[in-house]
Amino acid sequence: MLETMRQSTNPDICKAMLEAVHKKAEQFQINNGRLPVYMEVCGSHTMALARTGIKQALKDSVQFVSGPGCPVCVTAQESIDSMIGLAKDERTIICTFGDMMRVPGSTKTLVEEKASGKDIRVLYSPIEAISIAESNLDKEVIFLGIGFETTIPILAFLVQMAVEKQMTNFSIWMATKLVEPILRYLLEAAEVQLDGFILPGHVSIVLGESSYQYLPQEYGMSGVITGFEPAELLSGINKLLDLSLKKEAAIINDHPSIVTKQGNAVAQELMHRYFYNSNEAWRGIGNIPSSGMDLKPEYERFNAKTKYQVHTVTVKKTKCRCGEVIRGMISPEKCPLFAKACHPLHPIGPCMVSTEGSCSAYYHYMRESY
Ligand code: SF4
Repeated sequence: MLETMRQSTNPDICKAMLEAVHKKAEQFQINNGRLPVYMEVCGSHTMALARTGIKQALKDSVQFVSGPGCPVCVTAQESIDSMIGLAKDERTIICTFGDMMRVPGSTKTLVEEKASGKDIRVLYSPIEAISIAESNLDKEVIFLGIGFETTIPILAFLVQMAVEKQMTNFSIWMATKLVEPILRYLLEAAEVQLDGFILPGHVSIVLGESSYQYLPQEYGMSGVITGFEPAELLSGINKLLDLSLKKEAAIINDHPSIVTKQGNAVAQELMHRYFYNSNEAWRGIGNIPSSGMDLKPEYERFNAKTKYQVHTVTVKKTKCRCGEVIRGMISPEKCPLFAKACHPLHPIGPCMVSTEGSCSAYYHYMRESY
């Protein structure tokens, strides 16, 4: 394990891989008259490519575009507004992840609402919501559940605990997202010319390599599953370029010690035991059929959306271009607000708030490169 770690950050290995990428990308450019375009689906890869300097080192060889895999960035404004609406009732305790606190809703953020005295709590683990509910039986505890297939099994585990404990004062506001529907949406919308995906590492642990076969089979699109260390990222990019040069489409699992063919069967079963595929609203995109998960009717008593009546204001339009950033249509510095009106101390959109957001990655690591 230690040896693998050493290799994945070894400067000589990384340098050789970087040179190989440059050469292959040059050949691609000669063949196609343009740079190869790869989308990093998840925010952790966006951050890792920027933090390691790989995006900057390859800016004249490979065009990387951000994808829709940052859970905070794709959570619809209506979900924040609904939490703010629910927090106004003094019988409620709203629980969520830290990044969600500063994401702007239509009029306020959750952190502003908390500052005005509302009981809104940041959790390090969703499991804490159960113990908060158990020790506040006179309150209604509502957990804002965001995230992809990595988080959904944990939310399912929360429901399992709530069922076993016969809880009556705990519910979840499901705002979860699924990877396959959004990748299909992007490919069918064809707003960006793509040559391959750097597939999400953590989600792939749950879903498994075989879950992506629709990409080459139905869309002629390649994908590589890779890790987050420099040599792992460069190895994945090299493999995508090999496929692009051969004009072949395939899924390559470059992280086989972590990601199996079929994924985590226990996590998959847990998800489908409590949730069904539901229509879901994505920030900057809109509603995509069957692109999220919600509670099955038999667990409706834990569904905050049906348990409470929430009246939200109309979604406020801003000049934030996160919707285009997460579809790979523009890079953050093309947003006129980037690093001017919008920066980490005053984020206007979620892509600048989230630790996995593309605008945040560009602001912290890439401002000097453009
Ligand atoms: Fe939105 Fe700010 Fe990014 Fe512009 S720079 S797209 S306003 S988060």
